[in-house]
Amino acid sequence: MASRTNQRVLLGCALLCAAVLPWADSSRLRAAESQPQPAVAAANFPIASAARLAGDGKQTRFILDINQAVTFRAVTLADPYRVVVDVPQVNFQLPAGTGAAGRGLVKAFRYGLVMPGGSRIVFDLTGPAKIAKSYVVEAANGQPARLVLELEEADRAAFVQALAPENRPELRPTIAEAQPATAPATTAPETAQQKADGRPVVVIDPGHGGIDNGTQSSGESEKNLVLAFGLALRDKLEKAGKYRVVMTRDDDTFIPLNDRTKIARNHKAALFVSIHADALPRAEGDAQGATIYTLSDKASDAEAQRLADAENRADAIAGFNLAEEPTDVADILIDLTQRETRTFSNRFARLLMGEMKSTVRMHKHPLKSAGFRVLKAPDVPSVLVEIGYVSNKGDLEHLVSEGWRSRAVGSMAQAIDGFLTKRMATAGSSN
Ligand SMILES: [Zn+2]
Repeated sequence: MASRTNQRVLLGCALLCAAVLPWADSSRLRAAESQPQPAVAAANFPIASAARLAGDGKQTRFILDINQAVTFRAVTLADPYRVVVDVPQVNFQLPAGTGAAGRGLVKAFRYGLVMPGGSRIVFDLTGPAKIAKSYVVEAANGQPARLVLELEEADRAAFVQALAPENRPELRPTIAEAQPATAPATTAPETAQQKADGRPVVVIDPGHGGIDNGTQSSGESEKNLVLAFGLALRDKLEKAGKYRVVMTRDDDTFIPLNDRTKIARNHKAALFVSIHADALPRAEGDAQGATIYTLSDKASDAEAQRLADAENRADAIAGFNLAEEPTDVADILIDLTQRETRTFSNRFARLLMGEMKSTVRMHKHPLKSAGFRVLKAPDVPSVLVEIGYVSNKGDLEHLVSEGWRSRAVGSMAQAIDGFLTKRMATAGSSN
């Protein structure tokens, strides 16, 4: 894990150093010379302290206050209409709720880390628009540095023109290069180690992260709750020592859905467990308890379909252009493997429910299925567990409670052990 993180940091640095180092060096120099401000911040990331929108449905301006000038790249994406601004890693210290309400051409915006060394701001647009101007103003006259984006209304034809093939390499500027490297980086240094290790690999996948908060309620973000849960589960399994645990993320970084399954496949994982926490919109009443999901082409009910759609939107939330993601090739071999894998996934789901119901309040229909993209590794048994509803008061109390977490993690570890012990016994002679 550490090596993967290092690789990604290195990669991020390699991509961004041209932009980052000049001012990082000069600010460090300045701090060393005069030391007027808290010097700790000097080596740290730029801080964004305020963001605002101005204008109307014809022209809308976005302004971000930062404590130092940054380089950036802005691109537009269609279906849905979005503008994505990539910057070097920024420490966003914006007031809670910033970006939730839009103005003019901007429906809403969000921001956060998409990879170590790289942050992103994603604007959801009310319709097609073009970036008329984008620039950074240096700090002057007591004003902080500002990143400014000026959007102008456009028609769809003009918008699509701006997405012409020759413009496409500009998409996902810092991420584009980093993306394919993510998966190989996770395996290359670990394959040898894995061979020597020989223990079955369990991949734990805390949902969302970075720019994608997941569901939110009462100031709690799904991404933080499920990371805490995932790390506790990792610790529990590692303590027992029977399995090697790989996390898809162990910090607040966004990981695209495809990369999550790639990590599982590259490690030849014996099991993939994705951890989420659901929320119901207030208008749709209250629901509570944990639910275990497996992959299916046909959703088991409308609720499962709604949830799969919501979880599958993660890449769009982070601004990735889904049209660019290669789709899995369907062939007979994959199909056969997948069928077997689904049988194992369902077996694990039932086992997990059996263990969890003794310690965790379960949803009234705790076993469901739908087309979750993150469960699509054809050769790795995979389940997605919604450990509760952040929109339910009682569930939320559980989700933030360490006692509850430890009991729930205990049950999950028990189920994982039960499942893998049986699998190793039956598959034992084949390797
Ligand atoms: Zn989720």
